[in-house]
Amino acid sequence: MTVPVSFTAVPNGGESDLRMTYCAFVISSLLDDWSGMDLDRALAYIHKCLSYEGGYGQAPFGEALGGTTYCAIASLHLAPETPKSPRVSRLAGAERARTVRWLVQNQCESGGFSGRTNKLADACYCFWCGAALTILGHGDLVNERAMADFLANCQFKFGGLAKAPGERPDPYHTYLSLAILAILPSDHGEDETWKVARLDPWWNATESTAQWAREHIPARPN
Ligand SMILES: [Zn+2]
Repeated sequence: MTVPVSFTAVPNGGESDLRMTYCAFVISSLLDDWSGMDLDRALAYIHKCLSYEGGYGQAPFGEALGGTTYCAIASLHLAPETPKSPRVSRLAGAERARTVRWLVQNQCESGGFSGRTNKLADACYCFWCGAALTILGHGDLVNERAMADFLANCQFKFGGLAKAPGERPDPYHTYLSLAILAILPSDHGEDETWKVARLDPWWNATESTAQWAREHIPARPN
């Protein structure tokens, strides 16, 4: 039996959950070198975080969260095949459909996304849920226009974007709002306001940065 295992943020302890798993998967994919982990045990950990709702909790048996669902979906797509985990069996069938449904249902009437069932919309979850849907091939299920209008309402009059209309802005919500607008641009006609460089949803970097990284960073054999 494959024992599931995550990663810690620092050696010999610290937080250990899907966020650190995603970091480890991104680093391994950037280096194109997966020898630093037991991939099957890491993949087993991700599967154990899947909740009955279709989203992924921060750790096994946790409540489904938008942020950690993105971490799980991106990690499952970044990882190469293993004999125990062929790509076709990852995120397939009813399991995949449940995840897509849960993500779509998180888009609220306001156009923003909530991060947990029955919570209010928050700008950062437009990225976590919208990017996860894009990786799953269902970015078309996002009401992009409504989402862009919600994010426009999250702008603060002196700059930056807040988690919700009327709140104070911060760099975290400003970045993630712009990030999802760079992945799922809505049609604003002549409006240049939200035209930003396209983003790679797997690494959360601009496409040009991701392309540069693919060409220059992978470890080369001596
Ligand atoms: Zn937030």
